[in-house]
Amino acid sequence: MNLNGYRIDIDRIITSITTAHARTIAIQLPEGLRQHAMTLAERISKKTKATVMVCADPCYGACDLAADRLKGLGVDLIVHIGHIEIPVLKSATPTVYANAVSMRDPAKVVAAAIPKLTGIRIGIETTAQHLGELTTIEDTLRNHGLVPVVGRGDGRIAAMGQILGCDFSSATDIQDQVDCFLFVGSGMFHPVGLALATRKPVVAADPYTGVVSREEIETEKDALLRQRYAAIASAQTASRFGIILGVKAGQQRRDQALQLQSLLTEAGKTSMLLLLDQCSPVVLQSFAEVECFVSTACPRIALDDAALYARPVLTPVDLEVVLGRRPWDEYVFDQILG
Ligand code: SF4
Repeated sequence: MNLNGYRIDIDRIITSITTAHARTIAIQLPEGLRQHAMTLAERISKKTKATVMVCADPCYGACDLAADRLKGLGVDLIVHIGHIEIPVLKSATPTVYANAVSMRDPAKVVAAAIPKLTGIRIGIETTAQHLGELTTIEDTLRNHGLVPVVGRGDGRIAAMGQILGCDFSSATDIQDQVDCFLFVGSGMFHPVGLALATRKPVVAADPYTGVVSREEIETEKDALLRQRYAAIASAQTASRFGIILGVKAGQQRRDQALQLQSLLTEAGKTSMLLLLDQCSPVVLQSFAEVECFVSTACPRIALDDAALYARPVLTPVDLEVVLGRRPWDEYVFDQILG
């Protein structure tokens, strides 16, 4: 099934449902595919005769396992569309992952990116949607006399060369073996995160727009660092902190949240642990006593959505700087590793 230039293997979904004899299924899908949710639900329901429910809560990644929220609804199988699994996470309800696979051949944009690359050994990084094109990307680099290098990553990474917005371990694994990184995919968050996590030059090639970026990534990286510096500065005088502990299965950093609370106590600050599923300005606004929040949930809450919040939202790394535990020149990208 072709949706917005992405292919979803609907036959595999239907086979999985019938093989599991699932009578009630729940579909999770990201915002970008929701315009097709009714068509998908109808098609699956017709082919399998199963009762199909669609999760309307936001779903930003495979870190969000719906199983706990669906207890009591008789769901036999969850169909998670648009992401691939995070291997270390185990769902309490059987879950089938159906990736949204890019239908764009990246060879042309990768060839266009070559003049912007530095050196010979090139680390390749991409998101789940483009993993099927890894061989094409490697071959294109080899045809231009370059040496592609692909990293394995940790237990949260399902396939070689894959990065998540919270996990750049497939890149940090190989950062000492490469001269620069080539990111194939869309948007700026991943390449900027890659540049901050590895401190190596990054070139981004977007197969959808055909745009190649390098200087723009440096500009965005500098802007993000300035934004973090400002957040850290504005938190210096705060004495009451809210530590956000994400309850989504793949965002839980309990030990780190407790460790941050100890650091704050040692520094003479007051803090409270806040269990949170879906972070938003409206939810945080009601905690009027809190002067500053620290998010141990998805790093994108603090890094990508900072402008949405009236009070500073720090990453754990930011807080270390605020408390004098980490010098600013050793600032690193916040990651959830596994
Ligand atoms: S924690 Fe955030 S960046 Fe990581 S997979 Fe989940 S939504 Fe994506």
